[in-house]
Parts: sequence; C-alpha cells; structure tokens
Amino acid sequence: MEQNSYNPYETAQLQFDNVADKLDLDQASRQLLRQPSREYHFTIPVKMDDGSTKVFNGYRIQHNDARGPAKGGIRFHPQESVDTIKALSMWMTWKCAVVDIPLGGGKGGVICDPRNLSLSEQERLCRGYVRQIHNQLGPNIDVPAPDVMTNSQHMLWMLDEYETIVGGSYPGVITGKPVGMGGSLGRKEATGYGVIYVLREFLREKGIPISSTTASIQGFGNVAEYAARMYTRLGGRVIAVSCWNSSEGKAYTFKKETGCDIEELARIKDSFGSIDKEKALDLGYSLLPGDDWIKQEVDILIPAALENQITPAVFQNISSKVKIICEAANGPTTPDCDPLIQERGISLLPDFLCNAGGVTCSYFEQVQCNMNYFWDIEEVLNKLEHTMVKAFHGVFSLATEKELYMRDAAYTIAIKRVAEAVRLRGWA
Ligand code: NAD
Repeated sequence: MEQNSYNPYETAQLQFDNVADKLDLDQASRQLLRQPSREYHFTIPVKMDDGSTKVFNGYRIQHNDARGPAKGGIRFHPQESVDTIKALSMWMTWKCAVVDIPLGGGKGGVICDPRNLSLSEQERLCRGYVRQIHNQLGPNIDVPAPDVMTNSQHMLWMLDEYETIVGGSYPGVITGKPVGMGGSLGRKEATGYGVIYVLREFLREKGIPISSTTASIQGFGNVAEYAARMYTRLGGRVIAVSCWNSSEGKAYTFKKETGCDIEELARIKDSFGSIDKEKALDLGYSLLPGDDWIKQEVDILIPAALENQITPAVFQNISSKVKIICEAANGPTTPDCDPLIQERGISLLPDFLCNAGGVTCSYFEQVQCNMNYFWDIEEVLNKLEHTMVKAFHGVFSLATEKELYMRDAAYTIAIKRVAEAVRLRGWA
C-alpha cells in the first residue's frame, strides 16, 4: 500500500479503539474521545507580492479540553488534510495526558508551501489565519504553537495579530515565540532532547550503553536536529540522516559510516530542514536515495519527519540489527506495522510519549508568561528532563508489569487520565 493511502485519522481512531476495548471504556466516553469536539474550516485570502490574491484553506481542530485548554501546533504543508489535523489533535490530547500537564489537544494547519512564499506573504498568511479564528483561540481556550514548516517568527506574527484584534497583551495565547518576546529558552531543543531522554532511559533499563549504539534518522528539521545533537552528545553515533529536497521534489539520505557531524550538517541546512546536497558531498557524505535511511544496519531508527513513513512494505527493508524504533515524528508508523514490529521483537518507543518534550516546554512557556518571569535554560531543561523521565517510567513500568506493547501502555495511561477528567466533569 502507498504511504499516502493511509488515513492518519483512521489510524488514530484504530489505536484508540484498540485500547478503549481493553479498558472496557463506557460508550459515551468512547464517542466523545474518538472524534474531535470542535472543527473550524476557513478560507484565508492573501495579497501576494505580485498584486494578485490567493485563497488558502485553513483549519483549527480541538479534540478535547477536559484537562485544560486545547494545545497543539499549526502546520504549513502542501499535503495537509483535515484528517491529518484531526489525528494530530487527538494525539495532542494523549500527549498532554501522558506527561500529565493540564492541557487538552488541538491542532491547526494551512494547505500551502511556505517554501514558495516570500516572507511578507508568509506574514500576511499568518495574520489572515488569526483573523479567521481568533474568537476560538485564547490562553484559556486553545493555544497554538509551531509545527512542520512553521517557526517562532510565524508565531510572533500570529500573536501580534491576535493582540491587535483583541486589544491588550496575551503572551499565553501562543507558544514557541522568539526568546525575548515571551518565548521560553529551551523550546527549540525541547522536542528533540525529550525524544533522547526517553531513549536514554529505555537503554538504561535494558542495560545497553548509549555510546555503543548507532542510529539512522529520517528528517533533519527541528525535532531531528536536536534529537541528533543530544544523542551524539551522549555518545551515540548517527550513521545517516534523510531529508526532503524541495527543488528536486524528492528526499535524499546523507550517510557517513564513521558518524555524521551534526553541527556541520546543521550549518548546511536551510530553515525548512533541507541539507545542501553539494556541500554535503564536499564534506564527504555519501548520497543515497531518500528511503535508504530505513535500510541502515543500525541499532536505532528514529523517524522524525512525517506520518505514515513506516509501512509494511517499507518495514521489510529494516535490517535485522535494528532493536529500537524511537518515534520522534507524529504517527510515523502505520497500524498494520505494529504486529510486525512485535513479531520481530523490536522495541517501539511511541510517538506521543517520545515527542512530548515540545508541548511540555510550551506549557512551561505559558507558566513563565503568566508569571512574567523567565527561567534560565538550565531550569527549563531540568524541568523538561524530570517530566520526560517520569512519563517514560510510568509507561515502561505499566508495559513491563502487564506485558503490554509500549504504544498500548502509553495509550492506557493517557486514555485513563482523559476519561477520568471527562467523567469528573459529568460529560460521560
Ligand atoms: P520540520 O519542518 O522542522 O522538519 C521536517 C523534516 O522532515 C525536514 O528536514 C524535511 O526535509 C524532512 N522531510 C519531509 N519529508 C521527508 C521525506 N519524505 N523523507 C525524508 N525527510 C523528509 O518539522 P519538525 O518540527 O521537526 O517536525 C517533525 C515531526 O515531529 C512532525 O511529525 C511533527 O508533527 C512532529 N513534532 C514536532 C514538534 C516540534 O516541537 N516541532 C513537537 C512534536 C512533534
């Protein structure tokens, strides 16, 4: 089956149903939690630099706010779809619950390719997005953040538009803002570092020194870069990274058997996470097809790009050396791969646990904005590490005790917490 024939929303519902069955969840809670509470679809007219007007489609979806305001990123992507955003909003609910922060789940997106938009067009798009949805956003309602192909500058334009419309200062309405403009130190590192804190704890439990391991990573954007930085800092060796080349419309894998120099690769990538092919060749990297990241003889695979990347067809190419799949992206593995992973005895560290560092730091950003007092980076990263380590051990203990697949253990904890909030509020 092709990667894009998988519907992420069906995946998210299937994963939920599977655990809801095991938990014997009541009918009303099931109905409430297997779909979003609210969905907004809107058009965004943008004046282009050449004087024409282009109309973009934007979305904001709030899955659940029983444990706190909806929280989740806004993606700019040409292949964005309502069902992807629905799935991502659901995964946000579970993500906030598994790390036990007082937030619900939401997600937004615009179908567009920011790589083909000038900075002023991107600014007008961000402002237009907020003009259409500002009534449904707020520090206590729904709090966006950056995601694929959006960054702190986009968030600041959105915040500025919101404050202009509503009047006043509302730094808690959007997270992932630039440092010095209400942003938290450590936000850019948080998701990637969080992934590696989870991986490190798992390796410790298994008695495997991280310095004896090798990894191959899909993606070299925000999450992948900082995951790679922390992994190599702890002694791991990244053999290969892959990324999208937008001018050629295809992905490449960059390989160095002796280990990629992450600093060096970061210097030759653009702001969308594409590594410069020519410069990488000059630096001695070998260039392989995009899909080859998964064929590498490594201990750990870290998908950190997009959803639906590990399908049964692709799974066949995974080397017998691979012991761990550490899901840094949201929904990188299709549900029909889960049984194959278990049969092969590969350990899976599930996405909404691994990549919860981003939303955890976003929560810290809100807390700091509320206090109007900002922590130094050590304090942020210490609190982040504490939260991720605690969440990992909660999931790992349950998985060990009940002999559960780690994805199911993470879902069990998250669904129980959200279902309890729903029950206490009298919604089910
Ligand atoms: P990003 O836009 O910074 O980077 C995406 C990377 O994926 C880029 O390097 C791009 O070249 C690469 N890519 C895209 N298609 C590819 C393909 N077919 N093959 C190989 N590489 C490809 O995005 P990001 O913020 O790093 O997010 C990555 C994933 O992590 C997404 O699933 C996102 O939802 C998830 N996530 C992000 C955050 C965050 O804080 N940024 C938090 C939680 C989860």
